[in-house]
Amino acid sequence: MKYVEVYIEHNTLSLNKTFTYACQQEVEVGCRVRVPFGNQELVGFVEKVTDTTTLENIKFVAEVIDSEPLLNEELLQLADYMSNHYVASKISCFKILLPPALRPQSNHEKIIYEEFVEKKDFVIPLTKRQQEIMDTLSFPMPATQFRKVAKSVAKTLIEKGVVQIVLKEKHRNLVEWAKDKEVELKPEQKMAIEKIQNGAENVYLLHGVTGSGKTEVFLQLALNVLREGKQVLFLVPEIGLTPMMIQRVSARFGQDIAIFHSRLSAQEKYDQYQLVKSNQVNIVVGTRSAVFMPFQNLGLILMDEEHDNSYKQDQMPRYHTRDIALKRAEYHRCKCVLASATPSLESYARAYKNVYKLVTLTKRINDSMPDIHVIDMRKEKARFGISQTLEQAMRNRFAKNEQVILLLNRRGYIPIVRCQDCQEVLLCPDCGIALSYHKKENACICHICGNSYPFTNTCPKCKGHSFFQTGMGTEKLEELMKMIFPEQKIVRMDQDSTRRKNAHKTLLEEFEKDGDILLGTQMITKGLDFEKVTCVGIINADAALIRQDYRSSESAYQILEQASGRSGRGNQKGEVFIQTFQPEHFVIQSVMEHNYISFFNQEMKYRHLGWYPPYSFLCSIIFSSQKIEDSLRIAQDAKQFFKDCKVLGPIEISMRNKQRRVRLLLKANSIEILEHSVQAWVDIYSKKHRNVKMDINMHPMYVEE
Ligand code: ADP
Ligand code: ZN
Repeated sequence: MKYVEVYIEHNTLSLNKTFTYACQQEVEVGCRVRVPFGNQELVGFVEKVTDTTTLENIKFVAEVIDSEPLLNEELLQLADYMSNHYVASKISCFKILLPPALRPQSNHEKIIYEEFVEKKDFVIPLTKRQQEIMDTLSFPMPATQFRKVAKSVAKTLIEKGVVQIVLKEKHRNLVEWAKDKEVELKPEQKMAIEKIQNGAENVYLLHGVTGSGKTEVFLQLALNVLREGKQVLFLVPEIGLTPMMIQRVSARFGQDIAIFHSRLSAQEKYDQYQLVKSNQVNIVVGTRSAVFMPFQNLGLILMDEEHDNSYKQDQMPRYHTRDIALKRAEYHRCKCVLASATPSLESYARAYKNVYKLVTLTKRINDSMPDIHVIDMRKEKARFGISQTLEQAMRNRFAKNEQVILLLNRRGYIPIVRCQDCQEVLLCPDCGIALSYHKKENACICHICGNSYPFTNTCPKCKGHSFFQTGMGTEKLEELMKMIFPEQKIVRMDQDSTRRKNAHKTLLEEFEKDGDILLGTQMITKGLDFEKVTCVGIINADAALIRQDYRSSESAYQILEQASGRSGRGNQKGEVFIQTFQPEHFVIQSVMEHNYISFFNQEMKYRHLGWYPPYSFLCSIIFSSQKIEDSLRIAQDAKQFFKDCKVLGPIEISMRNKQRRVRLLLKANSIEILEHSVQAWVDIYSKKHRNVKMDINMHPMYVEE
């Protein structure tokens, strides 16, 4: 008989302890078991197996689900690390390490075979066209695609025996064939690669201006690691960027790539997971969850746009992908390269102190940064939200058959609906914040909880029928652009237009093919590389500047510089138009000069003055309950408790789900002090305050309001 200690599948911190069961079957640490709990049966994770116990009246494990452990030593350690570092329940950490559909029955699948084309070794003379095909394709590749690309030449190449057809096990292939671009590395790129490859350090910050060829540096670094037979992880911040990265990686290295992001179905995730676990692929491209793939032999981690907010998970465990990447690199003794044109202040400060090795690319591939024009909206005439200067610039570009990107970081039609008679603003009853009107649905939608309310054209308060239309979102901007530029093809990209699977890819392809204007939210500012885009317009730069958060200047700088970075990446010089009411703001000034260092220095002064990261470590704790008094009372209790931290608050913040919320913000001198204090508080809280919900966010990227 064995005894197992089990974490139960229950996401509350108060149940963050193991329960002991007796087990008559074979079982190992890292397996799932089904156990009786109260009057139900729940799934749990085995944390420890022993031969004896001092406990009495022990219940039995009902079923051992896995015949071998799902989590190896490394991943079990990682769960420990996350649980401590983010003050998260252990079970939530185990769960995040696995694909959702990891069930035993999915193992028994029929194996399907597929025709593949492989290159043969012997040399026979080829025609120019045949040679070209052989040089540009990467083998092995699926026969269907080979025929599609090589067309008439395909048959001859097969008949001559230059290539041969073999049957291979088919895995649901998510990667399409793409053509590689031959490039000769620029001196700066070469230097960067050498520095990283030959460096003794493990962590590198690759700071390269937009369009400086960071991805090419990634591909070269990957090549050498793959040659050693090791695995490479490419992390991208957003799903919208996966198609482009996958395309470039697969064009270079063929199709043996696993892809991992949130839009895959449970079955697809499972397939991709298995590809890595069974060592069938050596490359993984994906968003934050890809950092948990079951690598056995990791040789390199490349994290693109390391500053991006979406690398932080926004529910328990609230991990940051960068922390996990560094942890995994440490375990596998491999290098980790963090890259960005606009690094997070934390990372740059670390590079400054030589914790990370700084590698810089100062020049664009085409050696030409776009010209930035700041448009003072206090002075300029605007039509439909677009200044005359910008409108004229767009017309000039269209005349030359070039493309334009417009950034408006607000989705929907109008952001606030206000009654003209009584001034009432339509609010979300659950969240207490203003609803946005969406024209397509003719509904008011809450951008926090997503609830939608049909627009009735009647004010709920005074029953009046007239509403103000103030401000605009991307849906309205699209409508207005159609009026100003009726001849132009417009592609809109925001959360609403990208709901369907593969929508990101389809929209980007549409724009690349024959689009004139790509307009959208911050989604379109990241990573996109279209050589015909020569003009970028930022419709409302102030939206980014006026937020109250400690990180708002940093985010504003990042979004403005990244958006600017989409312009003029090809042969034509680019330009950028920033519409703002505060042209003298230091963020705008730094963007104008493409001067990250100047931005960094000034922002670090503010952070120092306010004792914010990277000078301190933060934790936000939000208490929520139906009654504001309950939330406030426990927040006051907590405040008394934290003697070693500076505590801001409690303050009341917006509701969620009709729950009244109160926030505390802790600041501490060291991570250890912060973790220790918060853990200690959780112990007290779990004993006393079950009726008030507590949400802990260690190292928050922004502070909720
Ligand atoms: P970044 O990620 O730094 O913004 P990319 O890696 O996307 O830049 O590179 C910008 C463009 O320049 C891409 O289209 C890429 O194919 C091209 N490129 C990269 N390196 C070179 C090179 N050495 N010579 C020519 N073109 C290059
Ligand atoms: Zn809401």
